[in-house]
Formats: sequence, structure tokens, C-alpha cells
Amino acid sequence: MTIRDVDACIYDVPIRHAGRYGVGPLERVRNVLVRVRAEDGAVGYGEASPWPVFEGTAEGVLAAVQRHLGPALAGAQAHAIAEAHARMDRALAGHPFAKAAVDLALHDLLARRWNVPLYQVLGGPVRDRVQVGFSLAQQDQGADVAEARALIGRGIKAFKVKTGLLPLADELARLEAIRGVLPPDGDLRVDFNQGLPSERALETVLAINELRPTFIEQPVPRWDIASMARIRARLTVPLMADESVFSLQEAAQVARMGAADIVSIKLMKCGGIYRARQIAAVCEAFGMACYAGAMWEAGIGIAAALHFAASTPVVRYGSDFYIPDFLLEDDMITRPLPMEDGYMLLPDGPGLGVEPELDALRRWATTPVWTD
Ligand code: MG
Repeated sequence: MTIRDVDACIYDVPIRHAGRYGVGPLERVRNVLVRVRAEDGAVGYGEASPWPVFEGTAEGVLAAVQRHLGPALAGAQAHAIAEAHARMDRALAGHPFAKAAVDLALHDLLARRWNVPLYQVLGGPVRDRVQVGFSLAQQDQGADVAEARALIGRGIKAFKVKTGLLPLADELARLEAIRGVLPPDGDLRVDFNQGLPSERALETVLAINELRPTFIEQPVPRWDIASMARIRARLTVPLMADESVFSLQEAAQVARMGAADIVSIKLMKCGGIYRARQIAAVCEAFGMACYAGAMWEAGIGIAAALHFAASTPVVRYGSDFYIPDFLLEDDMITRPLPMEDGYMLLPDGPGLGVEPELDALRRWATTPVWTD
């Protein structure tokens, strides 16, 4: 099955509410949908979800796919995913989000060809559902508590509170108030999104540790692995690395330095499913657990992350997979991903098990959409 071409377009979909995070605000989502087509006309879909304050831009992903990755893959065998990554890495340094979108499309194409759900290609399911953790990021106690109550009514039990922007006393009061409305099986997590200056981080994080959240995530800037290790040594709850681990090499470095107990694996950060599975193996080897993170992917990207999380045993801390249902105005797929009791269920169709909704794509696209 030879690759004929790789197409991509940007879409700009409104969000239901803006949020503020340690690294910066979320005001809109501009994603890139990618289609890989084989010579026989078979197609697979992938998605990139860059966030300028975190990594990448939609325009950069589009250029990377159209000018570099697509030409590098034309004529290659679609099922040869390791070779595809080698070709992509030779053609273009970095750009994990663009590579992730292509990697997702190749996996979709492969599993569709074999007529099995993608999780079967990835070793088979070790779980049939993945818990959804919702991010509370309004930075206002009343608003965040009200949002948590409404979501609990819709079955969500795990909440990741985006912290570090308020004075510490207000932050602690906000976290206590949110915990106060959780059900008995509710779950509170805390994420700083790199927001604390390294020299002030320990004091704040130790105060949060007293509340015994399920984990504390990325208090300091991504490059400051030494502070991550120093903080971890003082905590009694697990410390999670998110922005500190993009690549396989960064995962190895964090593991060697004892800088995290859990790693948030986002398909976008590392370049897709192929690399995500390598990172999971490094974590497992060092006794670290994993969390299934997400950026702002719509249905295609989240479906891919779901197949990865459901077939990777070490990913046992749930996910950020609420995005298409709760944040975006449009999930860009023909049928929503099934959710039950605060868990996303594995889609069962061939490939990713979801189909892009081309009418929706044309409605939100800001660059030309393929027509053939
Ligand atoms: Mg995070």
C-alpha cells in the first residue's frame, strides 16, 4: 500500500469558554486535519492541535506537512510506520505536532486496511474505557465550583484544577471549595502548567501537597528538570511531568534524574502513537506511571489518544479527553465518541473508529479543503 499524497487544512473552531492556564490563556482553537491517501484511494485521518503558548502554530503545522512531510512520504509504504518516522525526521527536525498528525493518519489507514479497530494493532485493549478528567481553569472560586457541580451532574468525577495564578491563600480556599462539592469517589488533581518561578515553587507546592491531590503536575518551567527532582523529593503525593517531557529523550532524562512519578503522554508532544508507545516503555522500565494528556484535539485526535491509552497498561491515571464534548463547539466527526459515567468508551469501528464530518470541516476551515 503505497502513499500517494498527504493533504492538510486548518480549521478554526470556537470554544465554549475561555480559560487561563499557568502558561497562558486559551481563547480559540486552530487545529490541522491531515489526510493520508494510498495509491488505491484508501485514506486515513489525523489531527494536530498546536497551541502557540505551549508549542507550535496551525500555520507552522500546515507548512510542515505540505512542504516537508508529505513530499518525504510520497511513494513510501503506508504500513511501514517506523520507516515513515525515519523519513519525517530526516526531512524536518522537530515539529512533533505535524509529525503526530501524519502518524495518526498512518495508523488509521493501516487499521482500516486490516479492518480492525486501531487498539487491536497496538497490542489489544487492556481496558475498554478511559476516565475523563475535566480541567477547571476559570481562576474564580465561585465559577469553578459552579462548573464542577454542573459537570458532576453529567457524570464527571475527576477534576484537574489549573493553579498558580491566584495568591496562595485564595488558591487553597478554591481547591478546598472544589473538593467540597466532589462526590465520595471524586478525584482532585492540580496542574500548574509551568506557572511557578523555580525559586518560589517549593513553598507553594508543599502547601498544595497538604491537600493530598491525586497528583501535582508541572509546577515549574519545562526545562527545569533539576527543580522537578528537588520538588519531587519533598512531596508525598506523585509529581507529574507534562511539558518537561515532549520527546523520548526527555522522558529518559526525567527518569534518570528522578524528576517525576507520572508522565503525561500527549500524542501531539512526542510525534504520535509510535513515539508515545516508546515513551510509555521508558516510563514502565523506570517504575513511572503515565497519564493520557491531550491538547485541544477534536474527535479524530482524541479517538487516537483513546486507542493508545486503552492499549497501554502503564497509562493508568486517566485522561484529558473531555475536549471534544465539553470545550469545542464542534467535534468535527460524524458521530460523537461514546461516554458513560465519566469514562470515554473505546470506539469499535475499523481504524480510529470515527469519520471526519466533511461538512463541518468545510464550515470551519480557513484554508482549502481537499475535494477529491
Ligand atoms: Mg498539563
